[in-house]
Amino acid sequence: MDITETEYDVVIVGSGLGGLACAYILAKAGKKVICLEKNHQIGGNLQVFSREKTVFDTGVHYLGGLDKGQNLYKLFRYFGIYDDLKLIRMDEEGFDRLHFHDEEKTYKYGMGYEKFIENLVADFPEERAAIEKYCELIQLFCSKFPLYNLIDKDVDYMGDEFLVTNAKETIDGLTDNQRLRDILAATNMLYAGTPKTPFYVHALVINSYIQSSYRCIDGGSQIAILMQRRIRKFGGEVVRRAKVVSANYEGDDPRKVSSVNLEDGRVIKGKAYISNMHPQQTIEIFGEEKFRKAYVNRIMSLKNTSSSFTLHLVFKPETFKYLNYNLYQYNDDSNAMWDFQDYDKAGWPQGYMLSTPASTRGGEWADGASIMCYMRPEEVEEWTDSFNTVTTPGERPQGYEDFKKVCAEKILDVVSKQFPNIRDITTSYYCSTPLTFRDYIGTSDGNLYGVEKNSDDPLKTFINPKTRIPNLILTGANINLHGILGVAISSLVSSFEFVDRKELLKEINELD
Ligand SMILES: Cc1cc2nc3c(=O)[nH]c(=O)nc-3n(C[C@H](O)[C@H](O)[C@H](O)COP(=O)(O)OP(=O)(O)OC[C@H]3O[C@@H](n4cnc5c(N)ncnc54)[C@H](O)[C@@H]3O)c2cc1C
Repeated sequence: MDITETEYDVVIVGSGLGGLACAYILAKAGKKVICLEKNHQIGGNLQVFSREKTVFDTGVHYLGGLDKGQNLYKLFRYFGIYDDLKLIRMDEEGFDRLHFHDEEKTYKYGMGYEKFIENLVADFPEERAAIEKYCELIQLFCSKFPLYNLIDKDVDYMGDEFLVTNAKETIDGLTDNQRLRDILAATNMLYAGTPKTPFYVHALVINSYIQSSYRCIDGGSQIAILMQRRIRKFGGEVVRRAKVVSANYEGDDPRKVSSVNLEDGRVIKGKAYISNMHPQQTIEIFGEEKFRKAYVNRIMSLKNTSSSFTLHLVFKPETFKYLNYNLYQYNDDSNAMWDFQDYDKAGWPQGYMLSTPASTRGGEWADGASIMCYMRPEEVEEWTDSFNTVTTPGERPQGYEDFKKVCAEKILDVVSKQFPNIRDITTSYYCSTPLTFRDYIGTSDGNLYGVEKNSDDPLKTFINPKTRIPNLILTGANINLHGILGVAISSLVSSFEFVDRKELLKEINELD
């Protein structure tokens, strides 16, 4: 079918989970939908890559809230993908494990609040009250977001105390025990936490993993592939290698987008548009002059979250046991837990998160491991003019390759302290840098999770899905919350512009 001949009800730009989820909801509601993706592979951060038969995730290490009745479980059931997903429930005794310096002790986040409290109280018996209070606060903050709990209720966030509550201050206020403070903050790589991160961001993310943590077997791309199948079942289309470069305003109402132009010259027409791109790129592509100046200034001046450098290792067969948990290692002074993005280059990497992909092939053995460290985009600024993806291959300068090698070796040095034979068992390694994320996701800097939330000015970073362009809606990690759960919920908010909110939530909740 020639996609240039149809006028779609909704044209979606980007096939990250946000774009796919909107496409599914709207196609199911009977809308004629097309989802345009610039890459060869759909899914955005759900993309995987394979080296020596080892499948590596690029942007999903684990999923929270997938036990029966929990929020992501309900959403995945509604999307019709839950039953076909290949998942492994992570270790209940400790799905996240935290290790500091070369201390003997490894701390464990237990799954479920009871186990979470039990584990920490065993390590810090005198801190029971603080640990219980922490869990109470997390759950209280989560209850403030009805949609997070798939409840239909309007809330006015203006002037609400809980939006300005700061994560670091809240955790520090619970206890004077620095090690316990470190432990409660140690997984802040999940939301790129800084001293300004609001506690609600911490709460919404951590709660979902405490509730239940799962890993995708053979990679998270299965989520995108299953979503695409479901979208097609309802008559929707998902088109790869379709990069949107600009928009036209040629209809009766000049305020409205009439069509979008693809890089290859095709023009796609629609009545309405949803952008799954970062709002900054959305403004560039849909035309700065179409938005209010104040809006453009606000959005363009928003600070993005940090980026990362990830080292992916391929192991010799049967040399490294599959770890059914993530390991967070910190080598730096513990007081710096919230300042890791402000690292001193000389001491990099001060910490890392290591996870082994679950695979049907490997069984009890890990095929490989991914080791993620914070990296600021400015570190790769020198090579910012280079570009390289599968769809648009390009050479990166030798200096960039050398830089990657130096970083990889530094990480291996640090990881060797916990796993002394890591170099001997590794057959090859591959690196992703802020430029990799920039090129594959289409952001300006390769940021991890979009715009950085700030407890000093929370409303500044709240991005409304509605824009000044009457038929352009935003979706994805920047609306509400990032992460697979956050983005799935954001897709509901965006879809409410097209379908009845009450009915949609009723349908989701009725399934189970
Ligand atoms: C390193 C890393 C680790 C992560 N780990 C986890 C985790 O363990 N668990 C978890 O829940 N979340 C994790 N996340 C976060 C999660 O993956 C993301 O928040 C989520 O997938 C973002 O979805 P999105 O809908 O915003 O779209 P994105 O994934 O940002 O995708 C946007 C899509 O738009 C496309 N696009 C951009 N411009 C154009 C254009 N001009 N034309 C056409 N298409 C375009 C891009 O190619 C891309 O496919 C991680 C993220 C990263 C980066």
